[in-house]
Amino acid sequence: MDDFEFDAKHIWHPYSSLPATTKMFEVISTDGCNITLKNNQKLVDGMASWWSAIHGYNHPVLQQALHQQIDQFSHVMFGGLCHRPATDLARRLIEITPENLEKVFFSDSGSVAVEVAIKMALQYQVARGKSDKNKILSLEGAYHGDTLGAMSVCDPHKSMHRLFSGVLAQNIFTPRPSCEYGEAWDDSSLKALEEIIKQHHPKIAAFIIEPVVQGAGGMYFYHPNYLIRAQEICQQHDVLLIFDEIATGFGRTGKLFALEQADVSPDILCLGKALTGGMLSLAATITTEKVAKVISDAPPYAFMHGPTFMANPLACRAAIASIDLLLEGGWQSKVENIEKYLHEYLAPCKTLALVKQVRVLGAIGVVELQTEVVLAKIQVEFVKRGVWIRPFRNLIYIMPAYIMSKAEIKKLSKAIYEVIAETL
Ligand SMILES: *Cc1c(COP(=O)(O)O)cnc(C)c1O
Repeated sequence: MDDFEFDAKHIWHPYSSLPATTKMFEVISTDGCNITLKNNQKLVDGMASWWSAIHGYNHPVLQQALHQQIDQFSHVMFGGLCHRPATDLARRLIEITPENLEKVFFSDSGSVAVEVAIKMALQYQVARGKSDKNKILSLEGAYHGDTLGAMSVCDPHKSMHRLFSGVLAQNIFTPRPSCEYGEAWDDSSLKALEEIIKQHHPKIAAFIIEPVVQGAGGMYFYHPNYLIRAQEICQQHDVLLIFDEIATGFGRTGKLFALEQADVSPDILCLGKALTGGMLSLAATITTEKVAKVISDAPPYAFMHGPTFMANPLACRAAIASIDLLLEGGWQSKVENIEKYLHEYLAPCKTLALVKQVRVLGAIGVVELQTEVVLAKIQVEFVKRGVWIRPFRNLIYIMPAYIMSKAEIKKLSKAIYEVIAETL
């Protein structure tokens, strides 16, 4: 059995069946913005490995940081022990996020960071004697991860919700903000949120939201003003505000964090994906003095979570190196340039009958089609054209590494145009 056959028979891939029904492409190396396949074909990578590899692959600074840490220690348990990689990273995160966020919980993945955020909000309310506040308010079109708690706040219609409806926590949903990014602000965008919080606040522990960009739930960009008023409404009704910046964090939307688009600071912030520059899995949930104190002052006088690989030193070192590289590297002008090139090169797609909308924000480019694509088929067409792009539903989208050249963005955009025009 060769590797392909073995893989197809024994190994689950994201959102896939076993035995596999679609073709996999075997990777032998990566470098910069390229993925090299076993047949030595080089693909320009439009996905940055799902938002994470913001500096491109095999960056020497990140690799050196990992080598150095491996020589010292790769992992120790975090119960009862502390270490420089964790303290140095937490210091940086506290410094670059809004001022009130200062208590850091490290975990392994974005979904767990969301679980931790939900648990913090619930434990906070229980600690204050408000155990009836045990539901989370979320948005239609939201995506917050694949574990059970995270699933319970994903879109209730299009996500895996329906399949698990008997099992998931029953949370509360409201429509996504109707006012799109770039449109004139329209106050009626808030009506639904206002009404649902007024009506249900005695039951609501927290409102969770992806600031400005709804990612895997639909690649939808909405007006940042929504966040300003949402925070006011939450504060008026004693509801915590959770921002999930797992996709948007670390420069992707043109601000270091998308929350800066509205200058709003949440009670709890989730980070992941690009945190380590795509080197290793790491996530963080950061909260305020107030939330941490309430939780810590009431029985059981502890926040009840503690992953085995909490604050893994290798991952922390990669994150420190990635953040320093980002802040020193003029990321803002790089993202601005990418935004400009995406606007320019994706514009021809607007002329295609199959295209519903083209939208660009920061280093994110989205081509929304009128109909859903057949992933297995379209994937092969992209690879034929020398690019790695992985659409979902009716959305072809790219979020390149910040080091990507103009020519590479042109190549990605041209491939999108051609695949839509010639093969769909
Ligand atoms: C990817 C993502 C998650 C889940 O992160 P994983 O690391 O895949 O568990 C949660 N929220 C948002 C907004 C994401 O984009």
